[in-house]
Amino acid sequence: STPSNTAGAVLITGASSGIGEATARHLGALGYPVVLGARRVDKLAAVVDDIREAGGRAEFHELDVTDLASVRDFVAFATTVYGRVDVLVNNAGVMPLSTMNALRIDEWNQMIDVNLRGTLHGIAAVLPLMEAQGSGHIVNVASVSGLRVDPTAAVYSATKFAVRALSEGLRQESRVVRVTIVSPGFTVSELTERGGDVATLDAVRATTAQMGLPASAVAEAIAYAIGQPATVDVNEIIVRPTLQG
Ligand code: NDP
Repeated sequence: STPSNTAGAVLITGASSGIGEATARHLGALGYPVVLGARRVDKLAAVVDDIREAGGRAEFHELDVTDLASVRDFVAFATTVYGRVDVLVNNAGVMPLSTMNALRIDEWNQMIDVNLRGTLHGIAAVLPLMEAQGSGHIVNVASVSGLRVDPTAAVYSATKFAVRALSEGLRQESRVVRVTIVSPGFTVSELTERGGDVATLDAVRATTAQMGLPASAVAEAIAYAIGQPATVDVNEIIVRPTLQG
């Protein structure tokens, strides 16, 4: 059965691995109709099969969050299938860490395009719908790097500080849309496997292997925020491994 405070779909960007995949699986098991988006549609299809086999309702659609038209197609697909969009989880992200003097400018731009612009595209695609519906919930996955800055993470942090800032601004502006920032610490996922300085990402991978949260822990935090009554807006959740300094 669908949780009573949700009539329509929960859309999740970056649902092909890590936190997004875990969130889709968890919300699907809880009875929310979920729509999974990412570029690797083979992975999305496999996750959707699993959710359906477990009795849940799930769909997927190809999505590149850097492309506003693609994000709009993703939302239109969800609206066609489920009638309304109750929740958007802006989760897609990349973290190719390096020091600024390495001038890995393509990777700076990629972080801005996916982490920041992608989140804005998601908001742009659902905000008019949610205002017309009179309700909605936008969950933005930021990071502990949205609260502190560390060497090699200057640009990544900049995108995550920005995600937290725009989330707070949207929250203040809207009496219709609930806005939640979810800021994880080290979490097991594929995040360290895509670009960045090799030695830096190896170190992050080692730390994550030693202490990282399972992605399901972040999924549980997202589910908590979504599961509140419509009058309750959980503004921010920070979830770190107990061992993280
Ligand atoms: P993963 O690499 O496992 O997942 C990232 C997801 O983003 C994938 O599903 C990927 O799918 C998707 N993605 C990347 N680029 C695009 C794009 N252009 N369009 C659509 N989807 C895209 O890492 P995580 O699960 O760790 O990352 C999820 C979020 O959590 C990110 O925002 C990350 O910054 C944040 N986070 C992670 C932490 C961690 O320690 N793991 C800590 C704090 C925050 P595909 O490649 O198929 O498109």
